[in-house]
Amino acid sequence: MTGNSTMTLNRTHDAARKSFVATANEQDCDFPLQNLPLGVFQGERSGHARCGIRIGDQILDLPVADEAGLLGRLPEAARQALRAPSLMDFVALGSRVASELRAVVFDLLVSDQPEPSKVGGCLVAAGDVEMLLPLQPRNFTDFLTSRFHKLRLSANGAIDPNFRSLPLAYHSRASSVRVSGTEVRRPHVQRADKDGVDFGPSREVDFELELGAFIGSGNPLGQPIPVGRAAEQVFGYCLLNDWSIRDIQRWESLPLGPFLAKSLMTSISPWIVSREALLPFRTSVLPKPADEAPLLPYLVSSEDQSSGSIDLRFEVWLRSARERSVGGKGTRITITNFKHMSWTFAQMIAHHASNGCNLLSGDLLGSGTISGPDADSRACMAEITERGEVPVSLGSGEERRWLEDGDEVTFTARASKEGFASIGFGECSGVVAPAVPWPLA
Ligand code: MN
Repeated sequence: MTGNSTMTLNRTHDAARKSFVATANEQDCDFPLQNLPLGVFQGERSGHARCGIRIGDQILDLPVADEAGLLGRLPEAARQALRAPSLMDFVALGSRVASELRAVVFDLLVSDQPEPSKVGGCLVAAGDVEMLLPLQPRNFTDFLTSRFHKLRLSANGAIDPNFRSLPLAYHSRASSVRVSGTEVRRPHVQRADKDGVDFGPSREVDFELELGAFIGSGNPLGQPIPVGRAAEQVFGYCLLNDWSIRDIQRWESLPLGPFLAKSLMTSISPWIVSREALLPFRTSVLPKPADEAPLLPYLVSSEDQSSGSIDLRFEVWLRSARERSVGGKGTRITITNFKHMSWTFAQMIAHHASNGCNLLSGDLLGSGTISGPDADSRACMAEITERGEVPVSLGSGEERRWLEDGDEVTFTARASKEGFASIGFGECSGVVAPAVPWPLA
């Protein structure tokens, strides 16, 4: 069996179908009928946290839809999982059940469905609710898979041999993963320069634009995942900001890798876009340079090589406190694409589990900074400003070497292809808050 064999293009990808929710049919809407991402929301009407599916500017309240008898085609285990205040139970059921839900909800929201008023009664306005973390991951692994990111930040201007041979990663922190909109506080850090070592508010707060992937059913301890089956393990994707503190990262990382530079907080977007929704936009992985040795077989599947990457375009916007105070839209500082990455999620998962490590349902994987070959496609401040040496100009006339207090960083992503409905991820954003007073009281 190969990676996508259980999932193929189907009627839920038909661009000709529209929704009775009018805003879903607008040209630039991230959430048309062909997307249907899952999330967890809380509103005054709903009371407690509940699972929903985004359509246009509305959310289908899944427990309410089930009470109304609209989800009866789904297995009982799926309906029960969707009544939980988190997506963890549903994600554990894997992508096949998610695909069944997608087909059912597509039929509920399509324009020619027979009972639009009954379904309409299960919709809530997205603007009226608060989005929560879709689930609390138990593990978070962050990779480094862009050779362009690696090259620009390489000390010797070269790609290390291990990058060419395996998808590099480290164990990051699951407890500090937060949903978009949460402030990130400038940390106090230890750092070293020519004058010695000190401790104080970081001077080098950075972002990293990444794609997150949630693991579906996972694997038992001791049982690796073949690369040809690894794509099936991705339940869905989100935008991920791996906030990075460069002054301590430089000091602490040898020999064990980043620690406090990354564990302060990680932001993710609230909507999980399914692997199925992204199927039309799959593309071949970036070719390896001709002078590099071929990959070891445990990392290679022909299907993954030909369709394991994603043509997904990202933007990063930076908006200072001054710009926010006058309602400015900020400055677009990055335009990039996931297809520039050297490794696929199937390879990351196959490598991660190759020693028998058990991936758990809801575990979060970060792709690594999505930097491409062009200057426009540098996807963190360390690259954009050449480690703080060359300031970037904002539309307001301000300059930045690193992020300052009050700066807001916002990620967006959209997949587009001729003949298919464009889909997007919404936003992942966060504002840098000032450091806490120190010494601590
Ligand atoms: Mn990272």
